[in-house]
Amino acid sequence: MCSDCNCQEVRVRFAPSPTGPFHIGGARSALFNYLLARKTGGKLVLRIEDTDRERSTPESEENIKAALKWLGMTWDEGVDVGGPYGPYHQMERLDIYKKYTDQLLAEGKAYYCYCTDEELEAERQALSAKGETPRYMGKCAHLTAEQIAQYEAEGRKPTVRFRVPKDQQILIHDLVRGDVVFDSNGIGDFVIVKSDGIPTYNYAVVIDDSLMHITHVIRAEEHLSNTPRQCLIYDALGFPKPTFGHISLILGKDHTKMSKRHGATSVDQYRQLGYLPEGIDNFLALLGWSPKGEQEIFSMEELAKEFSMDSVAKNPAVFDLDKLNHINQHYMRQLSEEALYEVAKPHMLAKGYITGDEEGEKLAWLHKVVATAKEYVYCASQIPDMVEMYFTDEFGFENEEAEAVLKAETVPSVINCLLTELPNMEALDIPAVKALFKKIQKTTKLKGKDVFMPIRVALTGNQHGPELAAMIPLLGVERTAKRVKASCAKVGIEL
Ligand code: GLU
Repeated sequence: MCSDCNCQEVRVRFAPSPTGPFHIGGARSALFNYLLARKTGGKLVLRIEDTDRERSTPESEENIKAALKWLGMTWDEGVDVGGPYGPYHQMERLDIYKKYTDQLLAEGKAYYCYCTDEELEAERQALSAKGETPRYMGKCAHLTAEQIAQYEAEGRKPTVRFRVPKDQQILIHDLVRGDVVFDSNGIGDFVIVKSDGIPTYNYAVVIDDSLMHITHVIRAEEHLSNTPRQCLIYDALGFPKPTFGHISLILGKDHTKMSKRHGATSVDQYRQLGYLPEGIDNFLALLGWSPKGEQEIFSMEELAKEFSMDSVAKNPAVFDLDKLNHINQHYMRQLSEEALYEVAKPHMLAKGYITGDEEGEKLAWLHKVVATAKEYVYCASQIPDMVEMYFTDEFGFENEEAEAVLKAETVPSVINCLLTELPNMEALDIPAVKALFKKIQKTTKLKGKDVFMPIRVALTGNQHGPELAAMIPLLGVERTAKRVKASCAKVGIEL
């Protein structure tokens, strides 16, 4: 049972147009609908709005569905899964729309319009020149039978326009924006069916949402201005209206509309960068929805429990990449060695560090290597750089400061001690390496840092990085010695 109204079952939908990359904003709309459905035990419908024949592509549809699945948003009815109110592609529903168009035409609530593009453009320009909002002024609103016959004889293909009633206040009770009122006089008679017989968005969406028994239309704020037109169609067809909720725009950190300038904007880009679906879901949920307490990390199950449209903010959501990174890092750290390796795999393959066919000891070694990066990365594409040292022995000093570490007087004794002891070690694991460091401290009478730092720099070229004692067992005695000797040679240490 829905807490927002008293309806029996919440039925929401996600209705993307498959016209390009699946934007992060679309994923956020899908998520809010998904969460509302799960929270209320309702249903999520996936409908594909493919009436833009030029821009819709099957690849884009596949991409959207794959992204939804990747993000763990399953739909209960719709494309691929079916359901009682299909078909779920708008292009397969043309005969359904036609039935309602015939009804509206017969009732005089819609009419054929024979205006050419040139005529419409001239009207727009004339209105703009007068400082008025461009809108259709109704040239074809009352054509006589002769005029229609004349146009038909000329071979003109008409559109169908909706006859907008005059002097109506259209009130929308929006779950997010509160009460919003529009004046019907500001809306010209608009096209509901194009001259090729394909319905426009504002028209098809109403018929579909009604016939699919959608109770809540939760979508992006940019559609708020379409809603009065949709409300007029609901009324004209005698359909009850759903509850609307228009969620705020997503802005970049500079508070301008999120665009490519702000970095990755599609779900696929984030997937390819090696973000985790759990991280993206968690982050998207917080783009507009505010949880009650301080908690920031939410699993999908927790979100489905906690989510409420009451706590969806009216003000724009700001896309904060640092926050996404922070959240994703949390989920990266939760991964097992095996799971971390799986997410690192495409990135390791791309770098040529692995072939993907590794097994046995080699695979176990790779798992451990990748695990060394775990604490230091926020997404999987960062992993290869973190583990580069295991795949190449070509390296330099990160800066002069690092190089200077090796120039201290005490360094040769540390390195000599390390190189002497290394081959004699019985076991090569983290505790053994730690014990070795202690031994070097004792022998050289140096403080820990004066032992660790030169070894780290000689081994990696860097002053910072993952745990030193974990690196040596993974590199093995030979490669450790080889790397350390090469660094020493670079700064002129004679061993
Ligand atoms: N196909 C529309 C879009 O992708 C759907 C808008 C709506 O949810 O009504 O923007």
